[in-house]
Amino acid sequence: MSESSLRVVWVYPDLLSTYGDQGNALVIERRARQRGLKVSRQDVRSDQPLPTSGDIYLIGGGEDRPQRLAAERLRRDGGLQRAADNGAIIFGVCAGYQILGREFVNDLGRSEPGLGLLDITTVRGDGERCVGDVLADVDERLGLPQLTGFENHQGVTHLGPTARPLARVRLGRGNGIGDGTEGAWRETVLGTYLHGPVLARNPLLADLLIKLALDVNALPPVEDRWYEALRAERIAAATVNPA
Ligand code: GLN
Repeated sequence: MSESSLRVVWVYPDLLSTYGDQGNALVIERRARQRGLKVSRQDVRSDQPLPTSGDIYLIGGGEDRPQRLAAERLRRDGGLQRAADNGAIIFGVCAGYQILGREFVNDLGRSEPGLGLLDITTVRGDGERCVGDVLADVDERLGLPQLTGFENHQGVTHLGPTARPLARVRLGRGNGIGDGTEGAWRETVLGTYLHGPVLARNPLLADLLIKLALDVNALPPVEDRWYEALRAERIAAATVNPA
């Protein structure tokens, strides 16, 4: 991180922002400011070059055609790979998660190269679309409470040997291949199928991204109880009315 501020980059909001993904950027900004950090946020449209000096890059969900356009432009731009090489934190949701991988199936039914930042491959699931509430236990190395979120995707994702599952579903489909895994991560690159927006529903995951960006093990606690009420409500709703 630079001396002066945490630089958050929201990647291609014009193409990838189907489920209020801006909320993820807002939550990171707020949680960082609550710790006294200065934060700058740059929203980079798909016709603009991506800065490579960001600390945290957020890439959201999207429908199939915008997802293909985003992947094409990100490959051409190359900035996200350079940022990852610089050690930036990259966090992808759903379509954004799929783009971070080796390849996914695009809106034309063809295999589309991703950015190769995660060792994952996404194919079109031949069953029902994965839609509904998700509860998932996070990889114990990450030290987070159970995640709650909402998924809506047709693609299903296989993890290669260098990607670790981000979590294991208790409810919902996650990566959708029947092994219970949800999302993937490797060092500073993390991806999930969870919308919500996921960081509003799981602010400790936002804190994890900030800690990784700052390279610290802990942040001062913040007084914020709203999320616990939201979390309890969503867990109850998901449990009473599973998808
Ligand atoms: N288009 C992708 C799929 O259906 C991602 C969808 C999304 O981002 N919600 O798998």
